[in-house]
Amino acid sequence: MKLLEGKVAVVTGGTRGIGFGIVEKFLEHGAKVAVLGSRQETVDAALEKIKKEHADAPVLGLHPTLTDPDEMTAAFNTVVDTFGSLDVLANNAGTDSRTKLVDYTLDEFQKVMRLNVEATFVCSQAAARIMIEQGKGGSIINTSSMVSIYGQPAGCAYPTSKFAVNGMTKSLARELAPHKIRVNAVAPGVIHTDMVDALPKEVIEPLIKAIPLGRMGEPEDIGNAFVFLASDMADYVSGDVLSVDGLSRT
Ligand code: NAD
Repeated sequence: MKLLEGKVAVVTGGTRGIGFGIVEKFLEHGAKVAVLGSRQETVDAALEKIKKEHADAPVLGLHPTLTDPDEMTAAFNTVVDTFGSLDVLANNAGTDSRTKLVDYTLDEFQKVMRLNVEATFVCSQAAARIMIEQGKGGSIINTSSMVSIYGQPAGCAYPTSKFAVNGMTKSLARELAPHKIRVNAVAPGVIHTDMVDALPKEVIEPLIKAIPLGRMGEPEDIGNAFVFLASDMADYVSGDVLSVDGLSRT
């Protein structure tokens, strides 16, 4: 069953990792998808990978600066001009840091907050303006993390940013409900991507051992949750932070 037939979706950070998993699942479920990346080359590579499997896949690649309101408005207008609508925004781009508090620089703290929080705000605002004008509702899905539930022992900007994402999700859900725009978040656990591959073995191994469902998650596990929240099956679901973490949060 295709759950997203007729819908147009934008996925930020869609070129690799979890974002690419979301893009693949959205396409599998019949959506038209705009893949947003930080550079032309990575966007081109992602589109090439998709087209190799499905030559006629309805995809568009763009690389606007996610924290720039004018660039984001222009990007969403291009999506509407190309595909005729904007129905789903997946705010997925994000960055991590593991620095200890005593060594943190303000620059490093701000870099994490800028992408994880400010970009989520800027993209949601630009998308919501279009969705409100379209008058047919929509779905905004943010990417949180299991560390937004209990914090993490180093790199405090990252959990701070994800707690903020949860707060923005719940607040925008209330603000946008009259427009039938639903706002939810997905809180992944340990998911098998470059971000996790970059962690030292001594950090990652105990994390996997502690997962009650006994394995690391895969990008498609997260993609499935995004499909549900983007679809009309989730028509009565808003303001929720859905954990997809093999029960790691407990
Ligand atoms: P990743 O590093 O593999 O991918 C990050 C994506 O964000 C890439 O597509 C990259 O191009 C994009 N990006 C990075 N900086 C950018 C910038 N300045 N401008 C535009 N795009 C930029 O990471 P991932 O693991 O796939 O993470 C995706 C999301 O999932 C993030 O929000 C992350 O916090 C969250 N998350 C990941 C895990 C995990 O275990 N991998 C767990 C919890 C939450």
